[in-house]
Amino acid sequence: MIDLNKKEIKNIKHKKARESGAQKFLCIVLACIVAFVGIVCVCVNNRNKTLLEAQTSSTAGESNDSQNATTTVPPKQETTESTSSKVPESTEAETDAASVNKPGTIDNPTIITISETDWHLTLVNSGYRIPSDYEPDLVYVCGSSERLDKKVAEHYEKMYAAAEKDGIKLTPCSGYRSYELQERNYNRKIEFFEGQGFSTEEAKVKAATIIMPPGSSEHNLGYAMDIICVEEWFEGTEEFKWLQENAADYGFIMRYPKDKQDITKVIYEPWHWRYVGVETAKELKASGQVLEEYLGVS
Ligand SMILES: [Zn+2]
Repeated sequence: MIDLNKKEIKNIKHKKARESGAQKFLCIVLACIVAFVGIVCVCVNNRNKTLLEAQTSSTAGESNDSQNATTTVPPKQETTESTSSKVPESTEAETDAASVNKPGTIDNPTIITISETDWHLTLVNSGYRIPSDYEPDLVYVCGSSERLDKKVAEHYEKMYAAAEKDGIKLTPCSGYRSYELQERNYNRKIEFFEGQGFSTEEAKVKAATIIMPPGSSEHNLGYAMDIICVEEWFEGTEEFKWLQENAADYGFIMRYPKDKQDITKVIYEPWHWRYVGVETAKELKASGQVLEEYLGVS
């Protein structure tokens, strides 16, 4: 029993040894497989990583490219924009060019630039306006608190002195007015007409016959003086008679005559005298034209 047991034990040991050998072998094989798989995985992983990096870098490159593309696109967009902005520009330019020949409107006036040489012929009305930032070189006239453009003031002073010699006092009542003051006065007049039941558009037009829109008044230029301030009675005064006879000799015209209201779109203002230069003033006096007619602007 003991031998048998020993044999059995031996057999068992051998069997176990074989089994453990086989197990070891299997373990080694498994380990090898695992190692191989591991190596393969690492390789694959590395490969994937490399690929990923390559992809990432290429994506980054693409991103850069796309960024480049994006930066290329904006210029394109900019180009498109600039092209599209050029279109309105050219349209604007065309509009500007066209508006030189076409008078502006009360809602879309032509903004003018003042000629250095022909400044005295500057036409302003509802359709033609000076820029809001225009600042004339102003001086006080005849010891009054009223100002005119320096170039005009000297002519007013001469006319004033000449009238004074004839016993006539051409009291400066209202000379230069700022753009802002003109705007306030004009808006107040619009409100007045709106209060009378007129639509805003109608009120604008009606207001402009009495108070010119900002930038369209000769007072904003500093080229005109309202004389004496008696307004509707001024027509019957000695001062008015004197001006009718002599103002042209000093370069002044009555800018808004009674019979030209359909052209000037401004009420009859016998008190409003505007400097246009002696030559033009005499021509206008002789022809009976208003500045719009003289300049060929309807
Ligand atoms: Zn006036």
